Amino acid sequence: MGLLSGKTALITGASKGIGRAIAIRYAQEGANVAFTYLSSVEKGQALENELAAFGIKAKGYKSDASNFAAADELVNAVVSEFGGLDILINNAGITRDNLLMRMTEDAWDEVINVNLKSCFNTVKAATRTMMKAKAGSIINITSVVGIKGNAGQANYAASKSGIVGFTKSVALELGSRNIRCNAVAPGFIETEMTAVLDEKTVQGWRDAIPMKRGGQPDEVANACVFLGSDMSSYISGQVLQVDGAMLT
Ligand code: NAP
Repeated sequence: MGLLSGKTALITGASKGIGRAIAIRYAQEGANVAFTYLSSVEKGQALENELAAFGIKAKGYKSDASNFAAADELVNAVVSEFGGLDILINNAGITRDNLLMRMTEDAWDEVINVNLKSCFNTVKAATRTMMKAKAGSIINITSVVGIKGNAGQANYAASKSGIVGFTKSVALELGSRNIRCNAVAPGFIETEMTAVLDEKTVQGWRDAIPMKRGGQPDEVANACVFLGSDMSSYISGQVLQVDGAMLT
């Protein structure tokens, strides 16, 4: 019996990086996993097969998290195909970094829509089912940048701070229905995205972290297993940093 046996989870943006690690850890813990991707169609299909090998139900959906109507359609499809929805993880995210002086309106809007509005879209659609079931765990992936701010990432930091306020508000509104809502704030996590960066720069980042290394996607995924499971049944409205003490 896994920690998530019998539960159905929906994870947005799971074709790679942290979302992919969450999907695999969830499947290992016995959850049925619905997940989304947008551009990485082949990776999404490969993940579906990889997850199914754990003996759980798995399905990938091509769905734009920033689109309100698409998120509604997605959640309805998951509920009807999986028979319910117990855990929602808003992980889909992008960066369009630039100094404020050079940041375009499009770069601002795109990041706010994909990172922040997406949380509103899926939570709004998922709460119908969770309220009926009088149970649910919602996990929104924010970032230490949303707590601290970061030069060159005003749009990204604003979207991630917004997620913190949103998470706490949802926890307050839906607590009486036994729906929990928490955020996970990763620090520097080494994914495919960081693997293409110059090694010297990355080493500089590692050296600045008290634990002297970047985090692994699995280490974020493990925090999500805890918050999705009944192990965290009285934890709601919190922001759990997974950052090797980067920000204390
Ligand atoms: P990543 O490797 O770039 O993966 C992002 C995922 O989001 C991909 O699966 C991508 O799918 C999906 N996605 C992007 N736009 C989407 C959209 N409009 N609709 C649906 N899916 C979409 O990023 P990551 O590093 O794993 O980051 C995952 C989350 O953790 C993000 O929210 C990020 O802000 C947060 N985070 C990451 C770090 C870090 O150090 N890596 C630190 C703090 C927070 P496609 O490829 O199919 O488009």
